[in-house]
Amino acid sequence: MKKPGEFLVTGVEVKPIERSRFTRRGFLGMGAAGLSIAGVLPHLSASDRSRSDPGPGNAGLDSQNPESMWPPSTDSKSLIPTFKYPFSLANKRVYEGGWSREVTVRELPVSKSIAGVNMRLTAGGVRELHWHTAGEWAIMLYGAARITAIDADGKSFVADVKKNDLWYFPSGIPHSIQGLEPDGAEFMLVFDDGDFSEAETVLLSDSMAHIPRDVLAKNFGIGEKALADLPKQELFIFQSGVPGPLEADQKAAAGVSGKSANDFAFRTMEKPPTQRTKGGEVRIVDSGIFTASKTVAMAMVTVHPGGLRELHWHPNAAEWQYYISGEGRMTVVATGNRARTMNFQAGDVGYVEKTLLHYIENTGDTDLVFLEIFKSSYYQDISLSEWLAHTPPELVMAHLHIDRTTFDAIPRTETVIMAG
Ligand code: MN
Ligand code: MN
Repeated sequence: MKKPGEFLVTGVEVKPIERSRFTRRGFLGMGAAGLSIAGVLPHLSASDRSRSDPGPGNAGLDSQNPESMWPPSTDSKSLIPTFKYPFSLANKRVYEGGWSREVTVRELPVSKSIAGVNMRLTAGGVRELHWHTAGEWAIMLYGAARITAIDADGKSFVADVKKNDLWYFPSGIPHSIQGLEPDGAEFMLVFDDGDFSEAETVLLSDSMAHIPRDVLAKNFGIGEKALADLPKQELFIFQSGVPGPLEADQKAAAGVSGKSANDFAFRTMEKPPTQRTKGGEVRIVDSGIFTASKTVAMAMVTVHPGGLRELHWHPNAAEWQYYISGEGRMTVVATGNRARTMNFQAGDVGYVEKTLLHYIENTGDTDLVFLEIFKSSYYQDISLSEWLAHTPPELVMAHLHIDRTTFDAIPRTETVIMAG
């Protein structure tokens, strides 16, 4: 079966693995006229003429989105709004000490249940002490950071996190993040509310600036003069010194109350993958093993080149995706005879509404790594293959017009990732 992109040029076969390099170099952008001049096209058939785009276009974006430029014939003609938003287009707030940018329901209207905030902190850079109504789940993407919180009993939590470590702070629990040496940190914050905005959290600095000074003095049992230098507006992110040894911070924060019994952090790579196949591997982390994470579940998926995250859906929640490396494509089949295929690269957010059928295929020549995130305490999916294999054979054969040999070849159990 031909893949999109292979029949762009008459008489020129493009193998799937080569496709991404081929299209990225601007063949799509050249359009039919350019290809003719270049001598690539001897003639054009009627369908080839339809697949030309002589008007204005953004060649860079078009080449990154071949399935939007020329959708596969299996996509519907009835429209499906985008389920992709690249962090490259997000509005960046830059401070001394770091930056943040977010993709929420305002940027990506379909993403109603989850919002993502991408943040960078320099060594010593602080995301100031704050809290919010949404639950906060996070994964470290780079470097090292120190996180602090207190639990609902007022006991302290201080921990250092590195690449691929997670944390989870429940609704209303106050916390902070600070970059460590040598080069601070970058991380992805995931909130269990698509409407969340990092610009609308309760900040320590902002809160204190709005309390009359005499009340603050009375509250802390100190003189008003000592509060003369309080910030007059929010800090949000600011540059500070790199913190000292972890143990000292933990001891000082615990005081006589002792440390929190809750572990708000999780070391993803200290556990073996949940499943590993020839096609890749998956690490599922939900409240079953990360007990603090009551409202967010994750599957970290690695798909080798040519491999496929098999056709499946999630009965319990919508899926918010973040692409970490490589490139792939996903088709989402919606109700009402609608379907759309889109391409994804590192730094993109994807979204699949609850219960909709989808797959993710690695279309590049390096590993595709992405996160499937759910607003749920547990991970759950249903594999199309597993379902069909556990339905009476005659019934399935009558639906799909396949013979018994073909039916028997369908995997009996969920493979998760099929090899290419
Ligand atoms: Mn927060
Ligand atoms: Mn999925």
